[in-house]
Amino acid sequence: MKTLLLLEDNADRIAGFEAVLADLGQDWRMQVWKDAPTMLLECADCFDQTALLSLDHDLVPEPGATVDPGTGLDLANYLAGHLPFCPVIIHSSNTDRSWSMHNELRFGGWNVERIGPLGEDWIPKSWLPKALEMIGQFERTVIFQKAADHQARARRALLSLEGLAIADAVGEMLSYRYAAAPRIIREGLVGGPWFRTDDSEMAISIVEILKLYGHIHQDALARRFAWRFERDQDRGYGKMTRMQLREIIAGAAWRPTAAAAFGGQGSMGNGGAMRVAPVGAYFADDLEKVAAEAELSALVTHTHPEGVAGTIAVAIAAATAWNVSTAPTDERARSFFETVLRFTPESQVRRGLVLASGTPTTVPVEAVAKALGNGFLITAPDTVPFALWCAAHNLDNYVEAISTTISGGGDCDTNAAIVGGIVALSAGPDSIPDDWRKSRERLPFWELVV
Ligand SMILES: [Mg+2]
Repeated sequence: MKTLLLLEDNADRIAGFEAVLADLGQDWRMQVWKDAPTMLLECADCFDQTALLSLDHDLVPEPGATVDPGTGLDLANYLAGHLPFCPVIIHSSNTDRSWSMHNELRFGGWNVERIGPLGEDWIPKSWLPKALEMIGQFERTVIFQKAADHQARARRALLSLEGLAIADAVGEMLSYRYAAAPRIIREGLVGGPWFRTDDSEMAISIVEILKLYGHIHQDALARRFAWRFERDQDRGYGKMTRMQLREIIAGAAWRPTAAAAFGGQGSMGNGGAMRVAPVGAYFADDLEKVAAEAELSALVTHTHPEGVAGTIAVAIAAATAWNVSTAPTDERARSFFETVLRFTPESQVRRGLVLASGTPTTVPVEAVAKALGNGFLITAPDTVPFALWCAAHNLDNYVEAISTTISGGGDCDTNAAIVGGIVALSAGPDSIPDDWRKSRERLPFWELVV
């Protein structure tokens, strides 16, 4: 089955497209949206069968509609941020805006053409031949792999992202007063919106890719990282990441860019680990898959074995948090570490995790931070063992987990983001205070649908 996705508000035109559908080929169907916001929310679910998109620009509100119908440019902007996967026709009589849409898509590498809707029979006369020509040249290279329970997986990934993004913002806010964090949190934080940082921004890209493809598509992820960075640069990205993303924006391929970091050693920073928890959430039923997909997500920017090991450890921790039993607290911490250690490759990160797993909760958090590292060095080995120690001993209490983590100082926003993305899965959404949820910055529009 091949699908034509249509953005068109005019009933006569819709009927016109319907009439030529069979001429596109045998097994074509058509999906129509009359306004851009609804299409944005729903269209990604059809992408695995989509073979052609045709977009109008000007949209008239439906009778009685209270929501702005948007324009075709909203769709062009959205598609341009993703890898091209089929041809696009722009069929609008608004010439100026058609070119805006055309440029967005063309700069995004999409195969796009304009058709002017002139005369009575432009659909069979000019649209159809152009559509057939473009379909004939098109070869699908982007593969979507969504499991039957994709929606449930995407909802888990979003829960993890929410836990991650809130904790990132709280950690950032309290990073200069980390020692007083438990008291400040107890007394109540100021109202939002709280500023999220690179940890959340990159985790948003990961969730977007999982939601769209059902797996970590590395090319798509690199493009998404760069796309979000280009539009919103002041999110506290690390220096090396900024350099890498700038190169990707300028046209470099992500693979050599990532490999060249730090004189060819690759990055062992905590950037792979800070954004990966939603991968563990999405694949929680298959730990082998969690480790493999986590590694794929790391390699786009962090190729050093330590950077990869830290990423795998956090993703396995997130999956384990979701699968966590109702066993007594100390047993849970032990089995949590056992699972993480089983999947984390031999590395400095893993040796730190062994040390963390044997560190009891009777040790004061400052001493634990000193012994394990607290991300002050912003490397994976200096970050992940402490973060997982904080998560392991607070699996059923999100606020306590974040409060403890921040009080350890160091890379507060990243430590908290790692812990928040994990503990939201074991403690559940209700463990995140309502006013915290309300105070976070809005996520992209798709938070409404997962
Ligand atoms: Mg940050």
